[in-house]
Amino acid sequence: MISEVLEFVSLLHRRSWPRVRLEEYRRVKLRRLVRHAYDHVPYYRGLMDRAGVTPADVREPADLLRLPVTTKADLRRAGADALARGASDLTVLHTSGHSGVPFEVRLTSAEYRTRRLRDFRMLIGAGVRPRDRLTLLGPTRTRSSRLHRRLGLYRIEVLPGSLPLAEQLERLRASRPDVLWAYPTVLKSLLYYAGCGLGGIVRPRLVITSSQTMEPVFRNQLLVDNPGLEIVDIYGSAEAGRIAATCSSRLGLHLEDDALIVELLEDGRPVPPGRPGSTVLTCLDQFAMPLIRYEQGDLCRLIPGDCPCGRQVPRIAPPLGRRADMVTLPSGRKISCFALDVALRDERALRQYRFVQRSLHSIEAELCFSHTPPPEKLRAVQQLLEAQLEEGMRVDVRLVPEPHFDGLKFKVFVSELAS
Ligand SMILES: [Zn+2]
Repeated sequence: MISEVLEFVSLLHRRSWPRVRLEEYRRVKLRRLVRHAYDHVPYYRGLMDRAGVTPADVREPADLLRLPVTTKADLRRAGADALARGASDLTVLHTSGHSGVPFEVRLTSAEYRTRRLRDFRMLIGAGVRPRDRLTLLGPTRTRSSRLHRRLGLYRIEVLPGSLPLAEQLERLRASRPDVLWAYPTVLKSLLYYAGCGLGGIVRPRLVITSSQTMEPVFRNQLLVDNPGLEIVDIYGSAEAGRIAATCSSRLGLHLEDDALIVELLEDGRPVPPGRPGSTVLTCLDQFAMPLIRYEQGDLCRLIPGDCPCGRQVPRIAPPLGRRADMVTLPSGRKISCFALDVALRDERALRQYRFVQRSLHSIEAELCFSHTPPPEKLRAVQQLLEAQLEEGMRVDVRLVPEPHFDGLKFKVFVSELAS
């Protein structure tokens, strides 16, 4: 308990460190990680030997460019060679099935604890107060972080997304949260099932959610239906834990810079601030199964300039999605489906929508309205969507009578193109 408190205090302190001190901290941690990986993890020793790089060559984040990027497939192939020799009694975390192929990340109990404490730090940074009732809607399983629970503060109720919808609804209502931390897909399913807005069930002050799966239409509906509600975006993954969270100024998401080195790349080269790049992560706190230049694959862009909140930590705009979740144009170029989402933002009668790409020349928009709209309205929506696409792509609109209740599995964009 004491060590947990001390670790948490130092985590909190780091948030206010000046940039120079943080840079030095990151350099020290990076060197230790790379040395450890080379000495104890066969996969990284092989990778570095093949690249002709020694641990002494990686002195600071910019030196990481000398190493190749590691993919999920690389680590899956490496199997036990991706783990540090002698690492035992590890906690296994499963990544969400974006690629459809399961992948496991392993952490020691201390690493897992650090991750939970970083979650807690993120909650406090987002504006969660000690006396708040917090309801977590969506995860299939969770382990509690004991520190604050022992203090009788930050009461958390966990509602797994796998529960029957009727039970989710009843328990959510009974939990009367001040803060609702929700998986957007689960929350959406629940609201469709309830047939009302969030305000008809609970009235939280804050909704914390992952921006990646929170489409602008749904976000806008939540804000319009619940005056005064604040939505806080977090960006994270099973591989790395929290990667970034909305700043108190609400102008972008600050990177978890003391735990991660985040690179944004295009064709293997760093992109300039403002341009979207694919995320590549180095996790500075994970030694049992190191992730060094691990390809996370979400598209993000850095926000240039200082943040008005005063924190000297880089900010990103909300992630644009994964490359796998992108529309493929006839030329083979990929664009984010985000623009399609944005185009539908003001369609208040829209209960759910989904885009399915089956050919290189068209996209099917499955739209579910609360009342069947007249044909001219549908034509206008179709034109609006087509205007977001390029290279003459067509949009075929299809009305769907009932929303999908796929819970966690629902995806706004589905590509059925052969890869
Ligand atoms: Zn800030």
